[in-house]
Amino acid sequence: MKAAIYPGSFDPVTYGHLDIIRRAAEIFDELTVSVLNNQLKTPLFSVEERVKILEEATKDFPNVKVDSFSGLLIDYSKKKGVHVAIRGLRAITDFEYELQIAQTNKLLSKGELDTVFLTTSLEYAYLSSSSVKEIASFNGDISMCVPEFVAQLIYEKYGHK
Ligand code: ADP
Repeated sequence: MKAAIYPGSFDPVTYGHLDIIRRAAEIFDELTVSVLNNQLKTPLFSVEERVKILEEATKDFPNVKVDSFSGLLIDYSKKKGVHVAIRGLRAITDFEYELQIAQTNKLLSKGELDTVFLTTSLEYAYLSSSSVKEIASFNGDISMCVPEFVAQLIYEKYGHK
């Protein structure tokens, strides 16, 4: 069975992430979308909230599971017995950063963990969790960026109804 992990902040999940999830779930038998508990970032949603949002947003994909982890991806993937990490690429700016992480993970895992990149669908190339949050904080329209229930939760965080 071919399994993969899609790690990320998902603060919150956007249509860009969901597009990568849908496509990765078609390539792999089992996909675990895993929320990274990153102490260095101050998130809008807690890890528990992000996991719940992802569970709801991916409920129609039978081979997708949602989880969370802290620490190094190589330790987490080893514990899970998974050898492939999924990452999405939007632009050349993502590439440099992602290449560095992928190569570091390959080295640290002694060759055990490979990264598979899926390139963004063009309609989501502009989308990022940070821009969605910025637009929502000014009560702007984010309906083309995230599912309706996610948009509601974001507006609530910013005190918009
Ligand atoms: P990070 O894990 O870097 O904190 P995110 O949770 O925002 O960031 O993203 C997780 C992964 O999804 C990253 O590989 C990122 O490049 C990718 N990604 C984010 N937004 C999109 C998008 N609109 N289209 C394709 N991939 C995306």
